[in-house]
Amino acid sequence: MDFSTTDQQDQIRRAIRDLCAGFGDEYWRELDRKREYPERFVRALTDAGWLAALIPADYGGAGLGVADAAVIIEEINRSGGNAASAHAQMYTMGTLLRHGSEDQKRGYLPRIAKGQLRLQAFGVTEPEAGSETTRLRTAAVRKGDRYVVNGKKVFISRAEHSDLLLLLARTTPYEELEDKTEGLSIFMVDLRRAVADGRITVRPIDTMLNHHTTELFIQDLEIPARDLIGQEGQGFRHIIDSWNVERILIASEALGDGRWFVERAAKYAGDRVVFGRPIGANQGVQFPIAQAHARLEAATLLRDKAAWLFDHGKPCGPEANMAKLLASQASWDAANAALDTHGGYGFAAEYDVERKFRETRLLLVAPISNNLVLAYIGQNVLGMPRSY
Ligand SMILES: Cc1cc2nc3c(=O)[nH]c(=O)nc-3n(C[C@H](O)[C@H](O)[C@H](O)COP(=O)(O)OP(=O)(O)OC[C@H]3O[C@@H](n4cnc5c(N)ncnc54)[C@H](O)[C@@H]3O)c2cc1C
Repeated sequence: MDFSTTDQQDQIRRAIRDLCAGFGDEYWRELDRKREYPERFVRALTDAGWLAALIPADYGGAGLGVADAAVIIEEINRSGGNAASAHAQMYTMGTLLRHGSEDQKRGYLPRIAKGQLRLQAFGVTEPEAGSETTRLRTAAVRKGDRYVVNGKKVFISRAEHSDLLLLLARTTPYEELEDKTEGLSIFMVDLRRAVADGRITVRPIDTMLNHHTTELFIQDLEIPARDLIGQEGQGFRHIIDSWNVERILIASEALGDGRWFVERAAKYAGDRVVFGRPIGANQGVQFPIAQAHARLEAATLLRDKAAWLFDHGKPCGPEANMAKLLASQASWDAANAALDTHGGYGFAAEYDVERKFRETRLLLVAPISNNLVLAYIGQNVLGMPRSY
């Protein structure tokens, strides 16, 4: 077994570190304080081609694998930044890539790769359905050469900062389905136009972190039938493919956060002197940091395995889900160790620990809550009885 990283991955890591060095703690702290979108950072990432990492070279992207993309995302969060501002572009585009027609791919991907179009918004969650995606109600009714969509979405992130929205909507009523995973379809929506025409109203949701998530109210939105991605009624299956990539990249965000917490905590534990010695000399301070480091290392192995399987065209659902579970838990342990290590200063915004603490907490819940990951492992991997 070879656990070494490739030269290409080492180069990517260095390049992302260099780029992120231009966006230090103060940049992210100030954005967090003002709840502003990291426009300059996202522009720099886009201009350097990193957000087009997973777009094949034929369509103007870098043609990298998920293992490479994981390095990009991990390094952003390890630098103290937050890849959530842009990560969706990487994984949502997989649905278009795998299930879009050649015309759709030629129409969108090169412009996304060049940074002329942003595909940052993914519209799945609804207030009533919650985690039960097969219960979505937003309906897309076919009328001639178009679909007319009505419904409501909640927690749709970056809708104010994206040109396009990948939308999951119901094309067959739930009651008429034998297989309840069918009946949903994916559409590419021109979000800017839909908002300008008053067909989608975007209402920001204030959250505990700087995340730019919103509610969408969709009223008589007309989508040309040519903007259906893949097969009508198979939308749920189409997005499941990209969910594995999402899980791997979210695990990478958590790992980056976790590394940041461990590095900051270890440094502070060495510097802060109380009772005549560095606080890190006390096992009560040192061991939680060491434990967090060990957990991060273990989660990294599973993330790397999941990415390797995906890049080699092999099934990776269990590994991708377990990587997300373990990485988000490891990062949360590291966050708590870092907060405890910093004592009262952990709560002071200027140390950035409280900001990263809030940011990494999200990963236990979204884009999928860890309970649902455990249910997937229990039911789909271990074959135990279903709760739903
Ligand atoms: C900041 C933020 C950004 C987001 N961005 C997006 C986005 O861009 N696009 C998008 O589509 N969605 C987005 N989401 C939504 C996110 O994916 C959901 O919040 C998440 O999937 C959970 O759904 P819910 O909030 O409806 O919780 P619910 O489904 O109501 O669940 C509430 C709690 O009950 C638990 N639970 C529910 N059912 C079970 C069960 N069967 N077994 C055990 N436990 C269960 C859950 O684990 C959870 O802890 C975002 C959410 C947040 C907070």
